[in-house]
Amino acid sequence: MRILVAGGAGFIGSHFVRQLLGGAYPDLAGAETVVLDKLTYAGNPANLAAVRGHPRYRFVLGDICDGDLVGSLLRGTDLVVNFAAETHVDRSIDDAGAFVRTNVLGTDTLLRAAAGAGSGLRLVHVSTDEVYGSIATGSWPEDHPLAPNSPYAASKAASDLLALSYHRTHGVDVRVTRCSNNYGPYQYPEKLIPLFVTRLLDGRTVPLYGDGGNVRDWLHVDDHCRAVAAVAAKGRAGEVYNIGGGTELANTELTDELLRLLGRDRSSVVRVEDRKGHDRRYAVDPAKIAAELGFRPRVGFADGLAGTVRWYREHRSWWEPLAAAAAAKATENESDRKSTE
Ligand code: NAD
Repeated sequence: MRILVAGGAGFIGSHFVRQLLGGAYPDLAGAETVVLDKLTYAGNPANLAAVRGHPRYRFVLGDICDGDLVGSLLRGTDLVVNFAAETHVDRSIDDAGAFVRTNVLGTDTLLRAAAGAGSGLRLVHVSTDEVYGSIATGSWPEDHPLAPNSPYAASKAASDLLALSYHRTHGVDVRVTRCSNNYGPYQYPEKLIPLFVTRLLDGRTVPLYGDGGNVRDWLHVDDHCRAVAAVAAKGRAGEVYNIGGGTELANTELTDELLRLLGRDRSSVVRVEDRKGHDRRYAVDPAKIAAELGFRPRVGFADGLAGTVRWYREHRSWWEPLAAAAAAKATENESDRKSTE
């Protein structure tokens, strides 16, 4: 069996690859694993250092929008897992161009190549709960209409619909997963948990959007990847599977927990203007994947979060260069802005 992992150098994709090659997914055991990744700012070869030199692993530097490359890689491939995406909502608010290109056109390129590769090829398209929009109470089942609000979520919704259309139109074996917010090691320090943890470790303040009442459902990356592996191995073609964590927290509650773990108090929190169009609450109904595939999260939130904080504490050499590069970029943008005023 050969598996192509697109976006395998990012946060979730690299966890999937490390676990896959480490034998964590018995149904996919022994597979030759090829990572295709463009290495954007979010892709990091260091995330795959643990598998470098593994006899069943190969890395290909490239773009999922490159039809020739994708077509050649899919020949002889049995399973594609697509993690490749632009993923940060704030960046999509500043400029959605790269999101439309990678998330929509890139997914279409993978799908076209999958249709050309003929039957026998499975493609798991990894998506997000953000495609459903925002929900005040209750939770979304998989057939809930999509109502994305951010450009990121809209580009992911477009890619989900394209994926499902290739199943209906061309008979491609596509499965779509929609997961809630992930946390864990190796997450680029721009999303809430790694941003707050790394800033608090440096003795700095953390920026909390608006009133901090936005609610997210948190799932450890290890559980997400296990669910993706289950969908790849035992899911049904043309189906969507929600993946949820069952740990709903307002951002204020999560921030308090991080402050506690890092021995700081609320004087470290700076309230900042809310994100434009900020979704209030996400909640997926995870009943289908539990009933069909027997999937349930295993990592308790308290243990998972404490382990994540510990990982960042012990891996400064991983995140310090990323934080420094992000700070230099922010200074450059600010001076560009001033020079054009
Ligand atoms: P990430 O930003 O950490 O990683 C994305 C990876 O894709 C990077 O390695 C990047 O280099 C690569 N990439 C980007 N554009 C590419 C292109 N054109 N060609 C090839 N590679 C490209 O993202 P993540 O947090 O690991 O998310 C992975 C997937 O999971 C995404 O599709 C995202 O929408 C989805 N998801 C993420 C979360 C979350 O909380 N992080 C939750 C639900 C779903």
